[in-house]
Amino acid sequence: MIRSIKIKLLTASLHTVRKVTGIDLGLSNFAIESNGRKTANPRFVKRAEKNLKRKQRQLSRKTKGSANRAKARLLVAKCHEKVANARADFQHKLSRTLVDENQAVIVETLKSANMMKNRKLAKHIADVSWHNFVVKLEYKLKEQGKHLVKLDQWYASSKTCHCCGHKMEEMPLSVRKWDCPSCGTTDIDRDLNAALNIRDKGILELKAAGQSSLLMEAV
Ligand SMILES: [Zn+2]
Repeated sequence: MIRSIKIKLLTASLHTVRKVTGIDLGLSNFAIESNGRKTANPRFVKRAEKNLKRKQRQLSRKTKGSANRAKARLLVAKCHEKVANARADFQHKLSRTLVDENQAVIVETLKSANMMKNRKLAKHIADVSWHNFVVKLEYKLKEQGKHLVKLDQWYASSKTCHCCGHKMEEMPLSVRKWDCPSCGTTDIDRDLNAALNIRDKGILELKAAGQSSLLMEAV
């Protein structure tokens, strides 16, 4: 009897996690979900990106106005297309999975909003990639009458302890794990903590928007 209740509770909590998810979009992992699942950029995308960089270097060495430069430019354009296709394919699959598994998905808008300000190429590429991913996620959710919550870019998801809400002054990117001085939680995983905060903040926004029924269904 007790055992069956326990199983029911466990099923209910797993159910909740699956229905509303918070996602932290990162550099080392493309996406970290509040249920702990981390999705890396797949190898075929990385390979295509590496190839593109090589072709770009080759192009920069060619003499301006030469036939070889024109050829090299064409190769770069082809590589660009391959990278774009590989990335789009990956993003379509991941967004499809997330939409199938959830009623609502919560993301931060920080990365795409900062897109134009960033001058570093690697970061710029990542920003564009996150933005395109969120666009795919949004229309797929809409098609199924599901919800996307975009959090304000100033929300400090990385600096706030998901257990007690304590906000750290500083949280440099190099810190991957930290201890909360307020509630004593140790070994807080930077990315997972952010994803959990994103989910919780998104749930509050869904409630504020009168979507409580959606959440009742989820619990
Ligand atoms: Zn804490």
